[in-house]
Amino acid sequence: MSAPIPETTAPSLPDFAPGSVWLVGAGPGDPGLLTLLAAHALAHADVVVHDALVDPGVLAMVRPGARLEGMGKRGGLASPAQTEINTRLVELARQGLRVLRLKGGDPFVFGRGAEEALALTEADIPFRVVPGVTAGVGGLAYAGIPVTARDCNSAVAFVTGHGQEGTLPTGVDWDGLARGAPVLVFYMALRQLDQVAAHLLAAGRGRDEPAAVVSRAATPRQTVLVTTLGRLAEDVAAAAVEPPALLVVGKVVDLRRTLDWWRPV
Ligand code: SAH
Repeated sequence: MSAPIPETTAPSLPDFAPGSVWLVGAGPGDPGLLTLLAAHALAHADVVVHDALVDPGVLAMVRPGARLEGMGKRGGLASPAQTEINTRLVELARQGLRVLRLKGGDPFVFGRGAEEALALTEADIPFRVVPGVTAGVGGLAYAGIPVTARDCNSAVAFVTGHGQEGTLPTGVDWDGLARGAPVLVFYMALRQLDQVAAHLLAAGRGRDEPAAVVSRAATPRQTVLVTTLGRLAEDVAAAAVEPPALLVVGKVVDLRRTLDWWRPV
């Protein structure tokens, strides 16, 4: 005898209280990757302060009547200082608004969500964090590249290619990374790919090791360039890859040959 099918019930979602801020991850692109909490927040916010990276399809879900404020940091272009964003969030919450701070991917993965949350605590503003699908996991999945696979790797490292001054961050332990993480996923590294490759090669990774650069992942304009660590800089320059883009290095890249499943509509 089979068990009766339980009645489905929608989860009860928390109130978006006036005067509070929700730090919400919007995922890498495809609006279908939003969490239920993110969709709930979009339906109830009074003001949405969003990043440059948030997909237009996600912004289209903002409740009619809610105000949109673009405030994002974008490499190379003029963007508001982080303190300005923090101040704005506090100011809007103090006006008694439901403030939705919407960020690409996950707010706590290279998204400066921690800084914003700290500023809110300091100002005594109640907040909630709504995690999102980070580009380095979900975006790569849309490119048919799993970040772990049983026969490939038992560890993965997420690394930022962006330090102060737009150069590689100082203090990265390249030898440790090269030895310890069979799969490496770099965010914000498009303009530093030649240096990243040089560091990894100098630290002992192979010239023939597979690498991929995934641009605008999980959006209709997704492109994937598969190459090797040795040819990376040259191939990317020739292909004029557009930001935002991720670099992934490691054997998992080969799985794309069979797992390239996604076709944008
Ligand atoms: N909080 C975000 C990351 C912000 S840092 C997250 O969790 O995904 C910005 C970097 O994220 C970009 O430079 C790029 O490396 C990566 N990124 C974000 N969205 C992307 C997308 N749709 N496709 C490829 N890379 C993306």
